[in-house]
Amino acid sequence: SPVPDYLHQILDECGGDNSGETADYIPELAAADPEVLGICISTVDGVRYEAGDAETEVSIQSISKPFAYALAIAQHGLEHVLDRVGVEPSGEAFNELSLERDSGRPLNPMINAGALTTHALIGDTGASADERFELVRQGMSAFAGRELQVDEKVYDSELRTAYRNEAIANMLRSYDVIGQEPHDVVAGYTRQCSLLVTARDLAAMAATFANGGVQPITGERVIERDVVRQVLSVMMTCGMYDAAGDWMSTIGFPAKSGVSGGILGVLPGQVGIATVSPRLDAHGNSVRGVRLCSRMSRDMGMHIMEAP
Ligand code: GLU
Repeated sequence: SPVPDYLHQILDECGGDNSGETADYIPELAAADPEVLGICISTVDGVRYEAGDAETEVSIQSISKPFAYALAIAQHGLEHVLDRVGVEPSGEAFNELSLERDSGRPLNPMINAGALTTHALIGDTGASADERFELVRQGMSAFAGRELQVDEKVYDSELRTAYRNEAIANMLRSYDVIGQEPHDVVAGYTRQCSLLVTARDLAAMAATFANGGVQPITGERVIERDVVRQVLSVMMTCGMYDAAGDWMSTIGFPAKSGVSGGILGVLPGQVGIATVSPRLDAHGNSVRGVRLCSRMSRDMGMHIMEAP
């Protein structure tokens, strides 16, 4: 197959871009190796192509948000979740303290207010933070097709400095959007963000979405088809921070990025795509990841709005 050669070639071409900085508001992430660069593509039949540091682990960070959203919908049904978290792009920073004007809901599940709420929806209302996190961990592991573990250093580092997320969770509690102790929800959500993944894992997770909810390697149905449709729709409009419109019009497939430098993209019915490279642009998206995805989209006609 010519694909591995192609991946090495675009890695060489995009890897020379040294612009951008590692995220600095989480001390442990600021210390990440900025040179890590990995790419992996997984087809819906489980065929995998990769190049570079495809097996280097990074914390999943915001890329966990679509999966927590999926798990919350699977547990409660869409209507229940929609009553609590909206689906409109916010046009604000991911960590903004804001709620929708009339409904009082967080605007969408890809910003922290929405993600803290979907995290709190998983498990029984009275579940402990540990029990809730364990359900999240198992759910995300099923997408990846292997047991994911927490980076305790990243977790401690982020939780110790989670003033902003504590403020958001307190706001959510005061408006009765969540019923639990705000700090417990922040701790569970921060653990969720600290799960370690590789580009290979992210590609498998993306391929599970691309495959309508069935994990290509294990064959397990992880999530129902209609839940996948909901999640990918929200990823498409809200997944790339404040660059969601730019991303969708130029690159053209639903994607989610995270502050540790990962990007996960989904071409429904075809492939899951993942890149890992920690230097971020002004929007918080990986500089090299965006370049790689835009190359692939152009070279392989991946824009989903393009007529075949
Ligand atoms: N754990 C991070 C936070 O809540 C995730 C942010 C991100 O990746 O966008 O601030």
